[in-house]
Amino acid sequence: MNRLVILGIDALDPVLLDKWKDDLPNFSRIMDQGYCVPLESTQPPDSIPAWVTIYTGMQPWEHGVVDSVDYLDIKGGANAVDTEILKGKTFWDIAGKAGKRVCIINPLLAYPVWPVNGVMVNGPVFITGDTQTYPEEIASAYELPELGGMVDFPGKKELAKFIERTRKVTEDQARFGLKLLATEEWDVFFLCLLTLDRVLHFLWRYSDPADPTYPGKNPYENSIKEFFVMLDSLVGEYLAALDEDQVLLIVSDHGHQMRPTRALYINEILRREGLLKTRKGSVAGVNPVALIEKTKIAFLRTMHKLDLEDWVYRIASLIPKERRKSLKTSSFAVLRDESVAWVSDTGGGTSFGGIEISRERCLAEDMEYEGLRDRLIGLLSGTRDSAGDPIIAWAKRREDIFEGKSVEKYPDVVFELREDYGVDRTLFSGITGGSTTHKKVSGGHSKYGTFMLFNSPNTPAADQLHITAVFETITGILELE
Ligand SMILES: [Zn+2]
Repeated sequence: MNRLVILGIDALDPVLLDKWKDDLPNFSRIMDQGYCVPLESTQPPDSIPAWVTIYTGMQPWEHGVVDSVDYLDIKGGANAVDTEILKGKTFWDIAGKAGKRVCIINPLLAYPVWPVNGVMVNGPVFITGDTQTYPEEIASAYELPELGGMVDFPGKKELAKFIERTRKVTEDQARFGLKLLATEEWDVFFLCLLTLDRVLHFLWRYSDPADPTYPGKNPYENSIKEFFVMLDSLVGEYLAALDEDQVLLIVSDHGHQMRPTRALYINEILRREGLLKTRKGSVAGVNPVALIEKTKIAFLRTMHKLDLEDWVYRIASLIPKERRKSLKTSSFAVLRDESVAWVSDTGGGTSFGGIEISRERCLAEDMEYEGLRDRLIGLLSGTRDSAGDPIIAWAKRREDIFEGKSVEKYPDVVFELREDYGVDRTLFSGITGGSTTHKKVSGGHSKYGTFMLFNSPNTPAADQLHITAVFETITGILELE
């Protein structure tokens, strides 16, 4: 019978692991002596749907948790997601029900904690609240590390502190896990580390000379690599603690690469086609909405150029939240009730997105729904950069890639842009531009995460796995089927 130690490392990227392999002896040992392949994430590769898929083995359209995190929103972003649906469906619940003893620490979103056949410890993400333990005695028996989190949004001057704090939190969490690991012969031990993703989002441009906003030699040059080295030594401590009958599984929810440095203004494309309507009006012959938009983008471009992006956020924080959001997303300018189509409110500046259609307006304007979807796909596919190259990687009807009861949670048309382009809702300022937020958040999620097995009696034959395979592997090793 096999027991499992699972380390979930958010955003552990296979390309970066390979790049720094020589300085990562423990990861290298697993790659050389165990099994290591790229793990295809959910579409889009967001932490929330991806982790829930790892927990349940279900595709996002089956589990229905399709929310994404907007890393550009002040203070983290996403609203609390209803996690009631997780209870009873996760691999640790299923294992517990089969009599297996489980120890579960810090899984993203699985909060508040619930009774399990063992221990469950977690903190809240995106929302405020206290760390919780099941059973309660754990809280008094151990010094609890900071759990949950994902609320940092460091400015340039706070980066050194942010890195130091994040390292400490990660080490505290890993060491707390080691203590609990040693207390009992757990059948399933699962520790989730969410900090690497944050480091990559905020530090990318300081360590990548290929990033157009790379500042040259700087104090953070090696911060990301050093974080990998720290994680490697923590993995080493887990390898050393591994029993003969324990399999080590390391998994990430997605990869992480440079965030797009260019922006495609999709709402502007829709506006020019007459599909998206904006507020009208004229002051001295000028449309005030267009004037505000043009002024805003000129301001953002200037602040970006002058390396003053932090000030944009400081100034923005003086504006009441609702107004700030409508200005940021240009929604103040859009008349949704009169529009047929608009770009959906997903993720901040990523290459993944969608267009929503108002069926009501479709009818009112005598447009046929499927015909409109074809037209939108054609429009997107036709976008070109200044060199004449396509900007869109692909655009499809949602039913072509998603299925099941949750398919309507997705935008009517979904697409992926070329990796150097992100979605932007700017209006009245051309079709494309540079990202004005890249200096603030320069790393972004990529499609392939990491899947590693060590000390496993049998390993898959595939040279690449899909994220749904994580749950199958776990239940397979534990012989739960
Ligand atoms: Zn993630």
